[in-house]
Amino acid sequence: RPPVLSAEELRVVFPGRRGAPSARAVDGVDLAIGAGEIVALVGESGCGKSTLARALLGLVEPTSGVVSFGGRPLSYGTRALKEYRRRVQLVLQDPSGSLNPRHTVYEAVAEGLRIHGRGGDERAAVADALAQAGLRPPERFFLRYPHELSGGQRQRVVIAGALVLRPEVIIADEPVASLDASVRGEILALLLRLREELGVAALVVTHDLGLAWNIADRVAVMYLGRIVESGPVEDVLTDARHPYTRALLSVLPESAEPPAILTGEPPDPSRIPQGCRFHIRCPSLTSGEAAGAGVAERCRTEEPELLGGVACHLR
Ligand code: SF4
Ligand code: MG
Repeated sequence: RPPVLSAEELRVVFPGRRGAPSARAVDGVDLAIGAGEIVALVGESGCGKSTLARALLGLVEPTSGVVSFGGRPLSYGTRALKEYRRRVQLVLQDPSGSLNPRHTVYEAVAEGLRIHGRGGDERAAVADALAQAGLRPPERFFLRYPHELSGGQRQRVVIAGALVLRPEVIIADEPVASLDASVRGEILALLLRLREELGVAALVVTHDLGLAWNIADRVAVMYLGRIVESGPVEDVLTDARHPYTRALLSVLPESAEPPAILTGEPPDPSRIPQGCRFHIRCPSLTSGEAAGAGVAERCRTEEPELLGGVACHLR
């Protein structure tokens, strides 16, 4: 079976203004999400993960490469794209920012149905979606406004607005970053339940490896526009092989390793280094580990490919 959603050699380049170098925000990404699978896309802010998410949603046309849905390349004609945008739904990070304060819960959830001209019983569809998102009994929420709800309830309304269109994939960009820890767990449990009950796949975009651990089947770690490590979440998070993934893990409170300090400039997609794009910050290079293994020169000159789930000359 083909993956439900995939990217091949995907690139999104933003031209620089007034002679500034262009920004290679997404710079050759291969990624696949299977039916009913939850994949976490992890990386620091500025690594290109939100741009990759927008390209997967069809909101940005890639500079090169292909996004496929159900094995078929996405077409950027308006008709096809509209249907695609029903089947792949975006859930945004800030509940209060994505809900119109003057719209009731009912209006917020019914809006997508109206845009997509879905026939049938609107009231029943809205009630179903609210109930699936854990707002029960749904009728009690119909006439409420966002300011009358808690942060967690607002996030559930946003999720109901996606579910009402019966999507096959949800792309959630930092879905719980703005929520309290207790509510965060409830929303993550909801995403897991939607996968169990409705078979909805999800790409969860996050800077938080702990969140990936709690929810994902697989994790893809992104650095400066590329996936540098990917695999089943247990493998990547208990036995990380890429020095960047190790550095991210080392700063978690649970880590037994001393926190790795990443030297050098933070990621800038308009100035991607030659060779391994991580080499100017790589602890394995500065510690001499790479030299000891005889790969230091390659680190500086040759981009490692993602092979066997890791893009590093040491592995
Ligand atoms: Fe570090 Fe070299 Fe591996 Fe890049 S290829 S992550 S510089 S060891
Ligand atoms: Mg972002």
